[in-house]
Amino acid sequence: MSHMYHLGKEHLIYAMSPDHPPALTVPAGSTIQLETRDCYSDQIVSTDSDFSQVDMSRVNPATGPVYVEGAEPGDILVVHIKTIEINNQGVMVTGPGRGVMGHELENINIRIVNIEDGYAALTDKLKVPLQKMIGVIGTAPASGSVSCGSPGEHGGNMDCKQIREGTTLLLPVNVPGALFALGDLHAAMADGEVAICGVEIAGQVTVKLDVVKAKDTEKPWPLPMLITDEHLITIASAKDLDSAANRATVNMVHFLADELGLGMHEATCLLSAAGDLRICQVVNPLKTARMELQIRYATEAGFDPQACSGQSRS
Ligand code: CA
Ligand code: CA
Repeated sequence: MSHMYHLGKEHLIYAMSPDHPPALTVPAGSTIQLETRDCYSDQIVSTDSDFSQVDMSRVNPATGPVYVEGAEPGDILVVHIKTIEINNQGVMVTGPGRGVMGHELENINIRIVNIEDGYAALTDKLKVPLQKMIGVIGTAPASGSVSCGSPGEHGGNMDCKQIREGTTLLLPVNVPGALFALGDLHAAMADGEVAICGVEIAGQVTVKLDVVKAKDTEKPWPLPMLITDEHLITIASAKDLDSAANRATVNMVHFLADELGLGMHEATCLLSAAGDLRICQVVNPLKTARMELQIRYATEAGFDPQACSGQSRS
């Protein structure tokens, strides 16, 4: 077993930015355990907590950033999500102005959600199977700063429920070292995240970070992309859901055409017949959608998921 790095939850950022000094520097190919606070920075501990007293400048923290040696602009950062461990208590907040139902809810409701026997207990009777996932995960943009509350081409607050244990997320490297960070774990979250919260929870995530070097001859991949046991997925965020959905679709067509040599008509037909366009979230500053294609269609066309596992240079 090789060395495992550790980054504690005192190393928090609230925006993805090239200006943040690295909290940890690791060689490509490293395995890292990152402790995370929940999206309210663990400020809400009971139903008696006063939501008006929550320091909003500390909402949506991500743990990081991690500088990955050898990662250079144009490369792909390959994030293998090994494990997601969560604490035994989560929280949900609903109320006026919050999420899709915010116009009908008259008061703030804080719900402490106990995690027990593989379920998140919303009430004594309403128990939801755990579906652990990562809400915020990304790299620094090339310039400027993107709040950890927003998704974008750098990843960020995508709130995509497929970003879970055992999946591989491909992110763009925009700055030397990539400056990777993650946070905002959910014990469970459904497509849409209509309340503007999942079951928000602190925990820790173990990832392996690899780097795939850009080749001058290649077109850049339409990132972020996600590889699961079952699917190849493109993820896109935009001001409205229509645009996000269109972008996720265009990205997958371009990937199938540019990387796997399918014709544009062929790729478009394949997605129309076999690709599922899905909502990630409708509540963040940009909305996020994804195109899911069963991975066998990609592998039959020559896609090798192993080629994305990162030829980490030693
Ligand atoms: Ca989120
Ligand atoms: Ca969240």
